[in-house]
Amino acid sequence: MDIAETARLRLRWFNADDSEFILDLLNEPSWIRFIGDKGVKTLDDARRYIQDGPIAMYSRVGFGLYAVELKPDGQLIGMCGLIKRDTLEDVDLGFALLPKFWRSGYAFEAATAVMSYGRKVLGLGRVVAILSPDNDRSSKLLEKLGFRFERAVRFQPTHEELHLYAAAARPRVMPEDSMTVEGSCHCGKVTYRAEIDPAKTSLCNCTDCQMLTGSAFRVSVPAAKEHFRLISGQPRTYIKTADSGAQRIHAFCTDCGTPIYACANIDDPPTYSLRVGCLKQRARLAPKKRIWCKSALEWAQNISAIPAVDEQ
Ligand SMILES: [Zn+2]
Ligand SMILES: [Zn+2]
Repeated sequence: MDIAETARLRLRWFNADDSEFILDLLNEPSWIRFIGDKGVKTLDDARRYIQDGPIAMYSRVGFGLYAVELKPDGQLIGMCGLIKRDTLEDVDLGFALLPKFWRSGYAFEAATAVMSYGRKVLGLGRVVAILSPDNDRSSKLLEKLGFRFERAVRFQPTHEELHLYAAAARPRVMPEDSMTVEGSCHCGKVTYRAEIDPAKTSLCNCTDCQMLTGSAFRVSVPAAKEHFRLISGQPRTYIKTADSGAQRIHAFCTDCGTPIYACANIDDPPTYSLRVGCLKQRARLAPKKRIWCKSALEWAQNISAIPAVDEQ
């Protein structure tokens, strides 16, 4: 049965003819490392895995892991789908591609189709995902899909600790060129990660930005609350009250003073304005607009006119 079609992919139910592909995929070092050794060592094992795994789940709950194939020739490249485990209350998203098909956006494309199928056809609300804590590639993909880290879980006392991510019923949809950014203050105490839309990067010329940076202007990019995660350290905050009475929190490192973000001084601020200079990916975050130009320092608007030297 076909489940979904995207620009480049088709997702369908697995069948016994996929055993050769399953044997390959389940013995990839990346599968063994991040998902685990399923003991599938022969074609017969692979047939049994398909029957007792995906096919059994289709008949038990109506969904499962799907075969992901390239259009138009039907070449199998991986699996992606939804799983209902006895050990978890929520349905979880699973995905794995053969490594030679990584880095082409296929996993994002397949997972987006599965999430949309889960919501529209199956009527699922919350969906979770379970990851090995060192699976950075997949955690970035999940953040891009609107998931966020929720807690560490352990299915059995002797098992490895895993990270549980969750996507709310209606996540904010990120554009396809959204970016995962990693931030750090100068001394390294405060670190964080976020998913941002580079097209929203702006350069602010307001006098607050001039004073709080000790410079001529500031470049920032917003991150939605659910796409911002503090990894280490707790920034200190300074509250600034505007003429209008609106309050804004400015967060900075207590040790080195690096500005980290600003947000509204309300209970559950929806966005964090990240300071681009502290993001590892800052070279790729050129501002798309200049704001508060009425307080801009005139000399700072055309710095290419100032003679330049490589070092001081
Ligand atoms: Zn610091
Ligand atoms: Zn400003």
